[in-house]
Amino acid sequence: KQRLYSGMQPSADSLQIGNYIGALLQWRGMQDEYDAFFSVVDLHAITVPQDPAQLREKTRRTAAQYIAAGIEPSRSTLYVQSHVHAHAELAWILSTITGFGEAGRMTQFKDKSQKQGADATSVGLFTYPVLMAADILLYQTDVVPVGDDQKQHVELTRDLAERFNSRFGDTFTVPNPVIQSETARIYDLQEPTSKMSKSAESHAGVLWLLDEPSITAKKIMRAVTDSEGSVRYDRAAKPGVSNLLTIYSAITGRPVAEIEDEYAGRGYGDFKKGLRDVVVAEFEPVRARALELLADPAELDRVLAANADRAAEVADATLAAVYERVGLLRRG
Ligand code: ATP
Ligand code: MG
Repeated sequence: KQRLYSGMQPSADSLQIGNYIGALLQWRGMQDEYDAFFSVVDLHAITVPQDPAQLREKTRRTAAQYIAAGIEPSRSTLYVQSHVHAHAELAWILSTITGFGEAGRMTQFKDKSQKQGADATSVGLFTYPVLMAADILLYQTDVVPVGDDQKQHVELTRDLAERFNSRFGDTFTVPNPVIQSETARIYDLQEPTSKMSKSAESHAGVLWLLDEPSITAKKIMRAVTDSEGSVRYDRAAKPGVSNLLTIYSAITGRPVAEIEDEYAGRGYGDFKKGLRDVVVAEFEPVRARALELLADPAELDRVLAANADRAAEVADATLAAVYERVGLLRRG
């Protein structure tokens, strides 16, 4: 089987529907075909300030939502990044073969640092893509399913793998990105031209997996639309309605055209009610299962520890080969 690696930051108490549609649903479907590693990337989360107690809790909650959404820790390796020491160690080695200018060209860093200002921006945020490269390369990963926002980071990972291999000898598998299509990208319900994200400033347009169903329902009924009144997909002219159609289609597995037909000649109210029922029904068992898992944190921690052991076995073997190749003296 080919290796697959992906992860999410524990940057909120709950995942949002974009993470569910754009990542979890895809991951769930790929578990059989691939030897999959799914990580809760807490070391990435601390590249921006986090409250320590909350970070711990968010990490557990993120893992619980992976499992609740159908990632099976007996089939896939589901673990917390910081539990496997090799991530931070390989990131250091890779940083020594990464160009300063090369890292400086990463658009995610440029965007985030511009918003924060230079002094509020950590060096960790700058080297974030190098840590991501380490995550991927440690597992000799063949495929990395990510949103298009992460494409450039996977390109950097490929460059670093090739550079290391040619300088020190064949060590890393060069991974391929599997970029999710535009149809899997979900936008904020109140601001349908910006990507929905966990760390959005306002939560009014974010659908959280762990929200009470009544809150989810309200947010859908209040979603921004337009004055045309017809349910049809047109990303440029009708971003709000198009986004709702994307969500409807992704969750039901029905083509957008079929949903447009169903709601032809009916108002947005009817359409939103339909979507509300679909989303609430989809979230309900996931939320219930996540809350059940979180009610027994000791058991969840045991599962994560066993999975971290499995991950460390693979990661440590890669790291040992890297240390050898680079010429670090083996401890006697
Ligand atoms: P943050 O705001 O902390 O960056 P995020 O919601 O963007 O949070 P990430 O942890 O960065 O989530 O990404 C986790 C996964 O979810 C990635 O595969 C990413 O591509 C995907 N993803 C995030 N937001 C969306 C979205 N709006 N639509 C589709 N996929 C998304
Ligand atoms: Mg993100």
